[in-house]
Amino acid sequence: MNITELQQIDAAHHLHPFTNQADINRKGTRVISHAEGAYIFEANGHKLLDGMSGLWCCNLGYTQPRINQAIAAQLEELPYYNTFFQCTHPRAAELAKAISDRAPEHLNRVFFTNSGSEANDSVIRLIHRYWDGKGHPQRKAIIARQNAYHGSTIGGASLGGMGFMHEQFETLGNIHHIAQPYWYGANTELSPEEFGLYTARELEKKIQELGEDKVAAFIAEPIQGAGGVIIPPDSYWPEIQRICDRYGILLVVDEVIFGFGRTGHWFASQFYNISPDFIIFAKGVTNGFQPLGGVMVSDRVSDVLLSHSNDLAHGFTYSGHPVACAAALTTLEILSEGYIDKVRTELTQAMEDYWLALADHPLVGEARCKGLVGALELVKDKSSRERFAGNGRAGTVCRDSSLQSGLVMRATGDTMIIAPPFILDRSHVKDLTERAWQALDLAQAQLR
Ligand code: PMP
Repeated sequence: MNITELQQIDAAHHLHPFTNQADINRKGTRVISHAEGAYIFEANGHKLLDGMSGLWCCNLGYTQPRINQAIAAQLEELPYYNTFFQCTHPRAAELAKAISDRAPEHLNRVFFTNSGSEANDSVIRLIHRYWDGKGHPQRKAIIARQNAYHGSTIGGASLGGMGFMHEQFETLGNIHHIAQPYWYGANTELSPEEFGLYTARELEKKIQELGEDKVAAFIAEPIQGAGGVIIPPDSYWPEIQRICDRYGILLVVDEVIFGFGRTGHWFASQFYNISPDFIIFAKGVTNGFQPLGGVMVSDRVSDVLLSHSNDLAHGFTYSGHPVACAAALTTLEILSEGYIDKVRTELTQAMEDYWLALADHPLVGEARCKGLVGALELVKDKSSRERFAGNGRAGTVCRDSSLQSGLVMRATGDTMIIAPPFILDRSHVKDLTERAWQALDLAQAQLR
């Protein structure tokens, strides 16, 4: 089938996620036909360096024959069985242990889902079950953050703090959103450290406002991903931890993007030295080759969950799917062969040397990075941080010019973001930032 025919059937039959369907039906979708290493290829032959690792998931790039072989072997051995009703199978049990071995020491139990969204829905259920088991069924309020992304199911999207999503459905009740630690965006007189403390203390204020005996949990991404790679000031997480401890509320860290190495540690919770009650994971656990997510549960929470005398009435047909678990086991094995250290050392350094230098571009108000994620704030005026008119237009222009420069960067409003795969080396990071600079030049020509 040629590209035009494919675009026609796609336009006629496919309803796309996070897409203006009428708009792409008019323009025709971009057809991605194949991939190799860190590169994707459009059906028209255009080759792109994938600065986003797919959707933050193909952390080891697209060519990993050992994962493919593990999937094929598992399809032969046991293509499906469930983990309901007192059953397990080798891969689910082995994977639960392999993840526990790499997580912070006090997290030793895993509930499997198919995605990050389902994991966040599941954690709501587990939080309720925990507080019921503790004899505090009135503790149901969950505090989350504005501009957070926790998925697209009703639960995940309600926990998330994206107004443009909330406008399109009726959110779950008793979820409360506080400010995010977005220092650059706030354009405040406070120093980053002061601002980190200030925004963390919004949690304390909200707990006091709701009544501490009503609050069940706080959920946050360690670094906000889809919201624009918002890296909290160093003062933020220690203060959040102090507040959660002080009021005895459960801390949920959504590591769907950062779990499995993106900060150069297995989990960002280790990087930030925080002690969550739950870690949410998905994406990178299988290198994106199979759908799999889950909730890691701390020992103190598991003790309570296990003390209930009735069944946990929650689960998915594909919870712990053997083929997805096999892909994950091999992914973890490969990641263990030096990739996490490489992100923490060589790649973190390369990002600091090259990516941060993009701040010298006239269009860039701030360049920031941590581990292997980066962001650029596009501004009309660097000193006042004034944005371009059109609310996100500059981002869209730059995203398109980036494709012209052979690089996939994503735009969130007027913030450009990247999360490249761990298989790059220093020279690739240099190449990536050169392409980004070229994209900024092209965007500037259009915007000014
Ligand atoms: N949480 C976070 C932090 C995410 O970034 C995402 C996906 N981008 C999700 C949850 C949802 O995961 P999924 O798309 O697998 O449902």
